[in-house]
Amino acid sequence: MSDKQIQINDTEIVNDLLLIQWSDKTDSAIPLTLLRDNCPCASCAGEKDALGNIHVGPPQQMTQQRYQLRGVQPVGYYGLRPFWADGHSTGIYTHDLLKKLAADN
Ligand SMILES: [Zn+2]
Repeated sequence: MSDKQIQINDTEIVNDLLLIQWSDKTDSAIPLTLLRDNCPCASCAGEKDALGNIHVGPPQQMTQQRYQLRGVQPVGYYGLRPFWADGHSTGIYTHDLLKKLAADN
């Protein structure tokens, strides 16, 4: 799946959707709630220890701002980093993950 690297040409936040325009001329629309609920960072998704146990950080406050997106920043040639209104910005979504979330939607 990653033999041909697809890049992001453009992103736009429209209402409660993140729209992504890919370099292969396809578009993805990902609901912000789905995006946030699948945050891949260590405190949301959990970190595996040496024994394979998954440790998830303390539960985060559920606020309205949790699902509001202030902006996104490209990370290298492989990912995208969203800046959420509640201050969370440690999750880096790979292009593969974004495509998967858009397909599940
Ligand atoms: Zn997170």
